Amino acid sequence: MANPHSPVCRLCRREGVKLYLKGDKCLSERCPFTKRNATPPGQHGLSRRRRISEYGIQLRAKQRGRRIYGVLETQFHNYFDAAAARKGVTGTVLLQMLEQRLDNVVYRAGFAASRKEARQLVSHRHFKVDGRMVNIPAFQVKSGQVITLRERSRDLEPIRRSLESRGSQGLPGWMTLYPDELRVDVTRLPERPEMDASIDEQLIVEYYSR
Ligand code: SF4
Repeated sequence: MANPHSPVCRLCRREGVKLYLKGDKCLSERCPFTKRNATPPGQHGLSRRRRISEYGIQLRAKQRGRRIYGVLETQFHNYFDAAAARKGVTGTVLLQMLEQRLDNVVYRAGFAASRKEARQLVSHRHFKVDGRMVNIPAFQVKSGQVITLRERSRDLEPIRRSLESRGSQGLPGWMTLYPDELRVDVTRLPERPEMDASIDEQLIVEYYSR
């Protein structure tokens, strides 16, 4: 059962949104965020009544984005720097880079119940990109690339379970899933409406532009 005091679930309370960090539990009635009238962690959630500065709002937006994708601070900052150096709207490019991470693609395709589980599956060498084994969760998947589950991993229970429970539900338009072949094709870059609506990328840009 999802523990309301688990460090992971506390992150959802802290950010004031469901971050979907615990797989199937996040979608069930056992999610403590759904069960409780979510307040920030701490005694009686008193901090919610505090006035939050502009900096505080930007910080929370950055932390929320970072936690959703499970990326460490330095790495997140590096993504921002890389996005700012590219053509296009920095905030959108930042989110696209996060979406293009191999662990995120594996999660979005339904091979894993959470990004954390996807990261573990990638690290344990269960996936190939264009026929070559890749075990780097941060690997940037480009448009036109094909991700397949390795032959030896085809009967892995967590993957089967996740694919069965997710079906094609929530599959974003920028990828095509071939469940029988245990393969997903990334056909294009994700567009903003196809990415997480709870992230305010403009506030993240403001945070790093201070
Ligand atoms: Fe915990 Fe998932 Fe609910 Fe967040 S969404 S509180 S991680 S069960």
